Amino acid sequence: MALRKGGLKPVERRADGDAAPACFVCGRQREQGIALMHAFLCESCEGHIIVADVSDGDYDFLVQRVTACWRTLSGEAAGAKA
Ligand SMILES: [Zn+2]
Repeated sequence: MALRKGGLKPVERRADGDAAPACFVCGRQREQGIALMHAFLCESCEGHIIVADVSDGDYDFLVQRVTACWRTLSGEAAGAKA
């Protein structure tokens, strides 16, 4: 299944001079990437996740980071409902 970016909001550096968001996988501040609710995923890591295979040495790390991000986001979503 191909990942589609159509429903995701692109993130661009704000004109007001705010620092670029930090990627939840690599932790680096990047100007280009996608926003997942309040989390940010840079283009580099997005591409890495898309092609990652279980034999990839970084696979476990990527799963760990995405899982941690998802737990944070799902917690935020649950908190917002209450
Ligand atoms: Zn990244």
